[in-house]
Amino acid sequence: MECPKCSSAMETRNYGRKISIQRCTNCFGLWCKPDVLLEMKKEWMSEALDRGDPSVGKKYDKVEDVQCPECHITMDKVADKKQTHIWYESCPNCEGMFFDAGEFSDLKYDTLLDRLRDLIKGRRK
Ligand SMILES: [Zn+2]
Ligand SMILES: [Zn+2]
Repeated sequence: MECPKCSSAMETRNYGRKISIQRCTNCFGLWCKPDVLLEMKKEWMSEALDRGDPSVGKKYDKVEDVQCPECHITMDKVADKKQTHIWYESCPNCEGMFFDAGEFSDLKYDTLLDRLRDLIKGRRK
């Protein structure tokens, strides 16, 4: 598979038992499906997969007309529902998602904070 943003090779990275994603060997963008993303949000330290430089990710975040690496159609640019500053590409056909370097860590960090807040609230009851 080729990276939809910089056309470099993507490699398969596994984490835990359920997580298998494609990661670009050049820009370290991440490609995954929604069910895998859910697992990544749950899995402790899975943000280790997102080891690219966020400043490089920001540069690639500006790339327009990104093609799905599986279906070769133009992907939609969508903002995360909770964290609207995070924009990622989503394929309208296969639902694959592409995150630039640093974007998944950003997404995950908020999820962790939410969980901690819930924990603290729970204890105070
Ligand atoms: Zn790339
Ligand atoms: Zn697709």
